[in-house]
Amino acid sequence: MEKKSYKETLLMPQTDFPMRGNLGNKEPEIHQAWKDLSLYELVMEKNKTKKHYILHDGPPYANGSIHAGHALNKILKDFVIRYKNMSGFCAPYVPGWDTHGLPIENALSKSKKVNRKELELSDFRELCKAYALEQIDIQREQFKRLGVLGEWDNPYITLEAKYEASQVRVFKEMVEKGLIYKGLKPVYWSPSSETALAEAEIEYHDIVSPSIYVAMPAVDTMNKLPKNTSFLIWTTTPWTIPANLAITVGSDIEYVLVKHKNCHYVVGKSLLAKLTDLLGWSNPVEVQNIFGWELEGMTYKHPLYERISPIIIGDHVTVEDGTGLVHTAPGHGEDDFVVGQKYGLDVYCPVDSKGLMMEEAGERFAGLYVDDCNEEVVKALFEGGYLLAKFDFTHSYPHDWRTQKPVIFRATSQWFASIEAIKDDILKEIQTVKWYPAWGDVRLSNMIKDRGSWCISRQRTWGVPIPAFYTEKDTAILDPNVIEYVANIFEKEGSNAWFIKEANELLPPGYTHPDSPNGIFRKETDIMDVWFDSGTSHHGAMKDIGYNYPADLYIEGSDQYRGWFNSSLITGVATEGKSPYKTLVSHGFILDGEGKKMSKSMGNVVDPNKIANTLGADIFRLWVASVDYQADVRLSDSLIKQVSESYRKIRNTIKFLLGNIFDYNDKTDKVAFEKLGKIDKYVLLKNNELIKEVLQAYDEFEFDVVYRKITNFVTFISSFYLDFAKDVLYIEKADSLNRRSIQTVIYKILDSLLKLLSPILPHTTSEAYNYMPNKEAKDIYLLDMPEVEDLDNSVEDGFDEFMDLREDVLKALENARNEKIIGKSLNAKVILYPKPRIENLLEKLDLNLAQVFIVSELEISKEGFGAYKGQDVTIDVVKAEGHTCERCWQVVKEVNEDGICERCENVII
Ligand SMILES: [Zn+2]
Repeated sequence: MEKKSYKETLLMPQTDFPMRGNLGNKEPEIHQAWKDLSLYELVMEKNKTKKHYILHDGPPYANGSIHAGHALNKILKDFVIRYKNMSGFCAPYVPGWDTHGLPIENALSKSKKVNRKELELSDFRELCKAYALEQIDIQREQFKRLGVLGEWDNPYITLEAKYEASQVRVFKEMVEKGLIYKGLKPVYWSPSSETALAEAEIEYHDIVSPSIYVAMPAVDTMNKLPKNTSFLIWTTTPWTIPANLAITVGSDIEYVLVKHKNCHYVVGKSLLAKLTDLLGWSNPVEVQNIFGWELEGMTYKHPLYERISPIIIGDHVTVEDGTGLVHTAPGHGEDDFVVGQKYGLDVYCPVDSKGLMMEEAGERFAGLYVDDCNEEVVKALFEGGYLLAKFDFTHSYPHDWRTQKPVIFRATSQWFASIEAIKDDILKEIQTVKWYPAWGDVRLSNMIKDRGSWCISRQRTWGVPIPAFYTEKDTAILDPNVIEYVANIFEKEGSNAWFIKEANELLPPGYTHPDSPNGIFRKETDIMDVWFDSGTSHHGAMKDIGYNYPADLYIEGSDQYRGWFNSSLITGVATEGKSPYKTLVSHGFILDGEGKKMSKSMGNVVDPNKIANTLGADIFRLWVASVDYQADVRLSDSLIKQVSESYRKIRNTIKFLLGNIFDYNDKTDKVAFEKLGKIDKYVLLKNNELIKEVLQAYDEFEFDVVYRKITNFVTFISSFYLDFAKDVLYIEKADSLNRRSIQTVIYKILDSLLKLLSPILPHTTSEAYNYMPNKEAKDIYLLDMPEVEDLDNSVEDGFDEFMDLREDVLKALENARNEKIIGKSLNAKVILYPKPRIENLLEKLDLNLAQVFIVSELEISKEGFGAYKGQDVTIDVVKAEGHTCERCWQVVKEVNEDGICERCENVII
């Protein structure tokens, strides 16, 4: 007898959505489709009447290809932008670039072999500009490749004329408020790059320095101390001894006068034991105790010069180390400078820009580099009998972050922005910001509290000039009207005008000044700190181009507490009296799989561009979503592999869902919630819960929670619901209530899954959405996030226990398969021997248990015990007796002459 094939009577899944992502090749096609569609513009158009949500982009520095850190940053931003645009906001994204500064000057001389000495400044700056724009083009393509959507054709760039004009106007406002001043001050100075450095440009590394103990001979002790007394000081920078102008003591610190051999020394009392040991003193005699305030006003002679200097009082003195008496050189230290100002000391600095000692330091030291000067000073002190001890001392010391060479503190004439005047306002504003993570508040507050004035001038070429002039008498002119005039020129011609035009062409016509009787003026040659460039972006790239102030959100790496978060806050409060951001999110750094820093020499660098072009940007994005980004995160090929595996599961699930709604129309075939089966309702409730939790997680920037919730849900539905749903979807009549119920649930799950995943996997969801039947929009990005429905969740009662029971049944089936009692689970008959509690539960739930467990027969027995012992049930699994239906493979009591069961017979009639 010829057997009939029933294959074509089954409703097998149908979709062309490919199993394999092939993202490396496909994503560029998807980008082209977005471009053809003007997707970003359509999103903006759709949301134009909605409330703005401004994520203000911190500008990356335009130099070199993007690395994993850049990719992490831009992708996190894209998550937020896409989520907000799908959640009732209008969230434009204007990317920016930071373009001035030393690295580009260096890149030109290094990689482009430009000899700047042969060029006019303005020509050199044009080359810098061209270089920066080239770099922007490279980075822009790489950022776009990651799927980041925004105004890539209209970014803000700090070298653009209108941006520079905005920046100069922020400067003007600060001048008007009296916050800008010129002064001599010790600043971090890098002899290796011959420039002042911002705190953000400092790195700390261990170095070995000479640690010396020096006796400074007393001159006038106001009859309180015997003759032949010395004040004992300690320093690790002997080259600053020539600039010593005072010794600072703590007012309430107790000092002791000790006699060793024939000399008397003043030292901190609590340090005496340690010093005795260190200096190898034998039996020093404590002569008298004396407080710091009693020492104030005494004098001593400089050990190397005929110079008399005072003992002064300062709050910064401690007895933690040293001698309790602090060598004070106001030209070479921040604390020294501050205390020196109080006592009217000179800001004396006999060191030039190259780090060489100047002639005023004396013949013996002149021309020596500070390090070499150390040695010579030590020798001189030794020869004079002032050196009591010298050791090698390893300590953490500031270095230039670019050249990696040690920096010095050196007094130079600089422009400053006063922080002190607005510090309280800034600290108050910090309290209004919402911080992610929460410690950001304390971190930034402490940095602001410790911050002195902000040195905003740099002795370089590639940057925005400080719009100041000097008269014939060298007085500085900082006049708001003049600055506005300059800003207008910059707005039209760019800041290179400063280097092309003469001073008189940059001053308002007819400008006069009493200190310039001949009408001769000189331009300032310093440029602004690049942190002032990017730190004013809330004007240049927000307020002045029509967006609100403050922004809703800043997201950058945790190094920006020192950098952009900090400088933006200062200029923001200085000009607007308000923090420029309402919410601040910071992310960590990317380490390798073992938690080590990535570096080319270690060979552990993971390149996001390579991942995007091979595995796909969506894989990298999924990795970003998977990590707790607010701390430092790990990235390696094997971690990417794990994420790829998750991706594959998500994609397969999407394909299965798509495949089973090919003949379903959500408008006409949808089954009302009340009419759904219990399990359908239960799964729909789980989906509703997922929506709620994921939206909450997005609102709190917890993308790893989004990732975890979604991947858990995918596992849940594919291992439970979708597994047994096949028996209904493939076999039952197309429009049976059972089948339509499952399709109703599947459609809802698919619809919400694609939307919820859309910010994270924009390529995959955009692609999958194209395969949805009856789609409502041109792209999923044009839809809104799914809403949390108000569903009757009493359906969930008892389901947790039921899922435990299911686990037991699955294990019992697994055992039976291993013992070869059954093959497929459809061969099985399951007999449950439940405890009364479970029996009641099953009665209450009233489920088609055979179908849920995907077996042919299920029996509940009130008596006896099964071989498998579960928690609240014992179970027997036996081979189902009867005939196997040719169509649905269930084992049934009877089949018809065509070999199919009654259920199937009814379906195919
Ligand atoms: Zn059948």
